[in-house]
Amino acid sequence: MTNECKQCGHKWQSRRVNHAFSRCCPKCKSYRWQTPKPSSGTAAESREQMAHRGTIESEGLQFISLQKGTLTVFDPETGRSEEWQRNDGHASFGIVYKGHDYEFCRFYIT
Ligand SMILES: [Zn+2]
Repeated sequence: MTNECKQCGHKWQSRRVNHAFSRCCPKCKSYRWQTPKPSSGTAAESREQMAHRGTIESEGLQFISLQKGTLTVFDPETGRSEEWQRNDGHASFGIVYKGHDYEFCRFYIT
């Protein structure tokens, strides 16, 4: 099956990637790759995006560390560690931890 990112147009094969990749576009790292870009941003859409938040627990992740605004978690489903940067109020999918928003940065294999 071919996935296509509706945010940046990147295409990739889902069988070659794992759960970590499928949650976001491998190229632009957007969690909204299945959602077409809105033609015009309204306040309502902005609020909807703002509400697109999870927690470490809701995403099935395990807390590793929090240093200088970088939240590191482990995803037991993929065996990968992920880094999330503190970015309050950002518009993409994010994790809320101790009152701050975190935006997906990168992952790496431990
Ligand atoms: Zn993309």
